[in-house]
Amino acid sequence: MTHQESLTKVIEEIREEYPGMLILENEPFSKHGSMRVGGPIRAIASPGDVFSLSKVCSFLKRNAIAPFILGNGTNVVIPDEGLDLFMIKTEKLTKMWMQSDGSLYAEAGNSLARVSQFAQSNGRAGLEFASGIPGTLGGGILMNAGAYGGEMKDYIRTVIAIKLEDQSMYEIEAKDCDFGYRHSLFEDGGYVILAAVFDLPEGDKDAIAEQMRTLNEKRRNSQPLDLPSCGSAFKRPVGGYAAALIEEAGLKGYSVGGAQVSEKHSGFVVNKGGATYDDIVALMDHIRKEVKKNSGITLEPEMKIYPKKMILVDQTPVEIPEELKEEFEKFKQERAKQKKDEEN
Ligand SMILES: Cc1cc2nc3c(=O)[nH]c(=O)nc-3n(C[C@H](O)[C@H](O)[C@H](O)COP(=O)(O)OP(=O)(O)OC[C@H]3O[C@@H](n4cnc5c(N)ncnc54)[C@H](O)[C@@H]3O)c2cc1C
Repeated sequence: MTHQESLTKVIEEIREEYPGMLILENEPFSKHGSMRVGGPIRAIASPGDVFSLSKVCSFLKRNAIAPFILGNGTNVVIPDEGLDLFMIKTEKLTKMWMQSDGSLYAEAGNSLARVSQFAQSNGRAGLEFASGIPGTLGGGILMNAGAYGGEMKDYIRTVIAIKLEDQSMYEIEAKDCDFGYRHSLFEDGGYVILAAVFDLPEGDKDAIAEQMRTLNEKRRNSQPLDLPSCGSAFKRPVGGYAAALIEEAGLKGYSVGGAQVSEKHSGFVVNKGGATYDDIVALMDHIRKEVKKNSGITLEPEMKIYPKKMILVDQTPVEIPEELKEEFEKFKQERAKQKKDEEN
């Protein structure tokens, strides 16, 4: 059975098990990603709760397919040709409550804005920095998203996640999540983040709300929020700021096709209209080369640009059927090459 046939089979199986589940087939990713770029995805399913999500994962595993977990698509760029992926969108995992010990429990599909507002309404401080980040909690944890001096890791007690390898659910303490600058244990794609528990200090509700307003106004004044983007295109390099280095290299406003270094904030790559995946990749490459030439510093992309023809097969070797092995090897080689290209 080819990978495409396995995908068709698993979609049928899941539809049969969960007739009410929203599963979009051959759905343009441009409708789901904040860059507004990307071709058809074989399937995007939105399980209604964590139990059906975990069942979907086990159906996929049985068919040697690994899921691509999609939050709000604010850090993801997909090729125009589309990808044969089974995406699981977490948009329906939105339960959230305060626990009796004062901690906050929130499912991964909640927007960061909603989680920080919920914390504020319960007189809990700390998440003000996250109220303007347009992603979900799951995406925010995976990226260890941060702004204005705060990071997700600062207030996380535990993360509840499914480990795809053994399909079991784990509650992982923050110290074991390998959190770093825009990095976590979850980045290798081995887990589905379901929820997190936060320890947040008590605070004055009005003061917290005021701080959120101030930070969000700062964001509106400094960022090109009127144009599609994935936020900062590059991570902050040691000893500098990506935006300043890009500006110093003379690239403010520079464009390739419809992709442009924002006129308002040089750290953002925006889609000024009709940008293609190739435009974005070519612009990112040009920026990296020019900045390296000008300052000697190598910029590392922050937004996740997925390679053409990428497939995700279940990574447990014994589970890979003979007929998928060749495709898996090709995929591994393409990923290795992409990583190498990024490093150069
Ligand atoms: C205008 C704008 C401003 C931004 N400002 C900031 C900022 O200030 N600070 C900052 O850090 N980022 C910022 N970002 C980037 C982005 O919003 C964050 O990285 C955010 O955390 C991504 O969340 P998401 O739900 O959109 O994730 P997605 O883009 O959907 O996914 C990102 C990655 O996380 C994975 N993922 C998502 N959910 C899960 C899950 N439940 N389990 C496992 N894996 C998962 C995906 O597979 C993918 O690898 C900005 C983006 C935009 C467009």
